[in-house]
Amino acid sequence: MTETLTLTHFIDGKAVSGTPSTESLNPSDTRDVVARFAEATTDDVNAAVAAARKAFPAWSAASPEVRSDLLDKVSNIIADRREALGKLLAREEGKTVPEATGEVMRAARIFKYFAGEALRRHGLTLDSTRPGIEASTYREAVGVYGQITPWNFPIAIPAWKAAPALAFGNTVVMKPAEDTPATAHALAAIIHEAGAPAGVFNMVLGRGATGGAIVNHADVDGVSFTGSQKTGAIIGAAAVARQARVQMEMGGKNPLVVLDDADFDRAVQCALDGAFFGTGQRCTASSRIIVTAGIYDRFVEALAVKAAALKVGPALDAASQVGPAVNERQLNQNLSYVDIAVKEGGRLVTGGQRLTLNTPGFYMSPAVIADTQQTMRINCEEVFGPVASLIRVKDYDEALAIANAGGLGLSAGICTNSLKYARHYQHNVRAGMVMVNLPTAGVDYHVPFGGTRRSSYGAREQGFAAVEFYTQIKTVYSWS
Ligand code: NAD
Repeated sequence: MTETLTLTHFIDGKAVSGTPSTESLNPSDTRDVVARFAEATTDDVNAAVAAARKAFPAWSAASPEVRSDLLDKVSNIIADRREALGKLLAREEGKTVPEATGEVMRAARIFKYFAGEALRRHGLTLDSTRPGIEASTYREAVGVYGQITPWNFPIAIPAWKAAPALAFGNTVVMKPAEDTPATAHALAAIIHEAGAPAGVFNMVLGRGATGGAIVNHADVDGVSFTGSQKTGAIIGAAAVARQARVQMEMGGKNPLVVLDDADFDRAVQCALDGAFFGTGQRCTASSRIIVTAGIYDRFVEALAVKAAALKVGPALDAASQVGPAVNERQLNQNLSYVDIAVKEGGRLVTGGQRLTLNTPGFYMSPAVIADTQQTMRINCEEVFGPVASLIRVKDYDEALAIANAGGLGLSAGICTNSLKYARHYQHNVRAGMVMVNLPTAGVDYHVPFGGTRRSSYGAREQGFAAVEFYTQIKTVYSWS
């Protein structure tokens, strides 16, 4: 066990503490209290928004070189500290150290990418239809952004929201998830250490009520949220009601289609990786594995053998391949979905049991549930744990119809050697991201990310798309 950290808010460039009332626990060993913190009050949120508003004019008018340099410095500090940050993330969230360190490096790369983007914000000049007139567009910073983040990528998601906001001249009030505040707090400390002017980046810690105070604040111009559909519905309604900009990335029920002609071993590996790595706690996880009849039985067996062989253990243990669920509630949710699937007629081939290991934590064995139907709850509701359900189909057409069932559309995969089916799927599956002969999870940091239908709302995040949400266009006509 390691020391318990005492966390602060960051408001107007200062660390602001209160009386610690809330704890984050190590899900691999619940005797280990990772951090203690005070939940932000409405006064704290008001002070953070006021600081962000005060800092906005100078930050938005600063040379893009100033913003680029800050982001570059943040990137370098994160990369230099990747091992310590990776261990903190693994300890607090429960993903294995290689996965956690990979996520830390992703955050570093995101800041590096947006250090470049800060210099590339540009407008257009158009030929006017009227003689003697020039028409042009500028991209301007918008103002103060509220950013609300979930626990499952506790440094990458804060990075992919903060970096573009700051790069394009906005100021930020962020509220990270209550289960993983220490990792986000470390990022806030780095942004200040790198020289962010007071008020440019603020962080308040707390639960949903703190997030609500940000979303409902009249002086917050835009809200970026990643989390569940349930919270998204509340945040979206509140932001739209007061005409604030809003962007939301929510859950998925991501299908992986496997056709008879696929490279069998690669397809099994795609399913294994997509369903179980990161303990299945990825919004892009493969949760519905739709397999054509010619290989279905062999595929179920091969996936079950590999899933049963995965080593579940403490995140900080080098031998572990799958860590714990993030908290007791998530673990119970995972186990209850296994029960529901079996009661509805699914066949539990392996796993799905709570595990008692040497340290008290939220462990379960990766579950493979075969012979499910699209109409079952296991295939309609997001589980967010190491649970894969398999659906047998007769052919590609039936596979596509099932892949497109339900209301979500984040990521969708297909394993096939047929160019015809791969191309058809790319164009016809209703998802924001399509993976061909790849797991549904696992994306680049410089490419737009997001879903369709109820998985996402508003402008895309990341890569070249981020400029849309974090700038506004001004059109200028001039005659002289
Ligand atoms: P959650 O919705 O419970 O919480 C997300 C954040 O919202 C937390 O910071 C929480 O404190 C805050 N919050 C809760 N109620 C609020 C309210 N009324 N007003 C303002 N803020 C509020 O989600 P979670 O359990 O932290 O994360 C898991 C979910 O996130 C899953 O559904 C997953 O699919 C989704 N997710 C989506 C993506 C994506 O990009 N599509 C990425 C990661 C996670």
